[in-house]
Amino acid sequence: METILGIDLGTTNSEVAYIRDGKVFVIEKDGRKLLPSVVGIDPQGKLLVGYPAKNQAVLFPERTIKSVKRLMGTDQKITLGDSSYSPSEISAMILRTLRSYAEEALGETFKKVVITVPAFFNDTQREATRLAGELAGLDVVRIINEPTAASLTYNSDTTGCETLLIYDLGGGTFDVSIVKIEDGVIEVLSSHGDTHLGGDDFDKLLFDNVCDTFKKKNKLDLRDSLTSSSRVLQAVEKAKIQLSSEPFATIKEEFIAEKGGEKLHLEIEISRDDYEEIITPLIEKTITCVGDALHDAKVQTSEIDKVVLVGGSSRTPLVQNMLANKIGKTVHGEVDPDLCVAMGAAVQGGLITGDNVGQILIDITPHTLGVSCLSVGSFGYETLQFSPIITRNTPVPCSRSEVYYTRSDNQESVITRVYQGESRDLDLDTQIGEFWLKGLSKVPAGNEIVCKFDLNADGILHVTATERSTGLSGNVTVENALAKQDAAVNDKFRKHLESFFEGSQSHPSNVSGDVIDIDSDEQNTKTNTEIQKKLSEAIKARYPDAGKVLRKSYEMAGKVTSEDDENEIQQLTVKLSEAMNSNNDDNVKKFTVQLEDLLFYLEDSV
Ligand code: AMP
Repeated sequence: METILGIDLGTTNSEVAYIRDGKVFVIEKDGRKLLPSVVGIDPQGKLLVGYPAKNQAVLFPERTIKSVKRLMGTDQKITLGDSSYSPSEISAMILRTLRSYAEEALGETFKKVVITVPAFFNDTQREATRLAGELAGLDVVRIINEPTAASLTYNSDTTGCETLLIYDLGGGTFDVSIVKIEDGVIEVLSSHGDTHLGGDDFDKLLFDNVCDTFKKKNKLDLRDSLTSSSRVLQAVEKAKIQLSSEPFATIKEEFIAEKGGEKLHLEIEISRDDYEEIITPLIEKTITCVGDALHDAKVQTSEIDKVVLVGGSSRTPLVQNMLANKIGKTVHGEVDPDLCVAMGAAVQGGLITGDNVGQILIDITPHTLGVSCLSVGSFGYETLQFSPIITRNTPVPCSRSEVYYTRSDNQESVITRVYQGESRDLDLDTQIGEFWLKGLSKVPAGNEIVCKFDLNADGILHVTATERSTGLSGNVTVENALAKQDAAVNDKFRKHLESFFEGSQSHPSNVSGDVIDIDSDEQNTKTNTEIQKKLSEAIKARYPDAGKVLRKSYEMAGKVTSEDDENEIQQLTVKLSEAMNSNNDDNVKKFTVQLEDLLFYLEDSV
């Protein structure tokens, strides 16, 4: 059977994938799966595509073209060195390169291809893409929408009906689509976006911030030199990516400039908090588009079954948090957001040739992993709660770290308790390890302790806690961190929920606090139980509808047979309880409706 390649012809990067024996593979070249969508001609007149072209872009901008996708369907001529080309011709060079990578890797020739385009591409832009394929010697059997392709990676053998929200934030563009899948037929209900918003804009903001700080200190603007600017730009992109998994990143470039014969170095540390503050307005823009797309599709947030992440910038934790808040659902990034569209195109190819395409299997962590910490809530009391570090459904291997702070002046030790579970309430999670870090510096409260989780594909979890100022560290290894929680946890949940109605025990805790202390003194939290009990009574009186739904969820949780359903009930119940605790009326309403809908839907199945 002839294999049909799947190609994501992206603005920033392009990828090629194929199906073999019902499984999807992405072609690698020199260990890399992404090909930068950059084309250039070197000074000797040799064609460069991908990394070599990207690398020469700063030195020879007149011989290099980036983001040609933005020009598809226009008459614009692109001059590279002595010749000029159409956008389709430039795109053909990228497609021809991808085709040669596939042929090199698999030792066979390929002719047929499925190519993806943004949902908003008009007929002229689609035709220009088809022409690019033909110029690359390919037979374009189908052009499909990128959100459709992304949906296919999550639903290749779907029967029944699902509504997906595809959030695609790349380097230079943002798209959000609402997609409905009914008995295998995929329909894009609405698409919104911004063709000039993406990770490059995050880089630009961070770049300006770094240049301003440098200028303040050295009275010299790095933006005035092309070489310095390009070095800073590369360094900030690296730091930005680091901040997706770590709480701090250092931008360090030696001999970045010269002033009065003196060589100047750049060394600036950025915290994730500061970075997030800088990019919040841009992410808010994308969230507004999400609202518009939902509105146009006439779909309520509660009707969205899955939120799928696409594009490298969707790995930004703030993106995932703001999106999850807007939709009230965890977001899915199990399939690599960079490769999702190419893989979906390959699935489409497989469906055309009648290949038996199975579900795309990816190693993910089935449970959230984190530590216990003290949080100061809006009522001023402290609660001991679960602080997630690696969230459920993250592909493994992975590494993430977070910063916590000591609670007391001169605190000499902290205990790191490692938990697995989905609830803020530690009672509902399972402790899987602990260790002490002793001999901390005698400093005021707020000493920074960085907690790092390294999870490998075999489920071995290394947890390290490090005092930032001295490097003093302690660690623990958990052998089987991917293994399922024992059934006792579900029992614990039921008992816990029961106690919530009886008012005999603390209920899911308030989590609105922003000062987090590593657990140093559990005694303190117990003294808060009385306050929490009273609070619980008041909450029950204030939200009778939510109370009813919670009671029903308790009854149902004992009856559902699927672990996923049980988890979903559990998560929504905790969210609703948290919203009630923090008097967040909007969220109480939202989660009451969501939980009600879920229970209504599940009622038929129990
Ligand atoms: P794409 O256009 O989908 O290839 O996405 C490229 C953009 O994703 C670039 O701006 C990258 O800097 C950004 N990116 C890649 N990985 C990450 C990450 N881990 N966190 C944040 N941004 C990332």
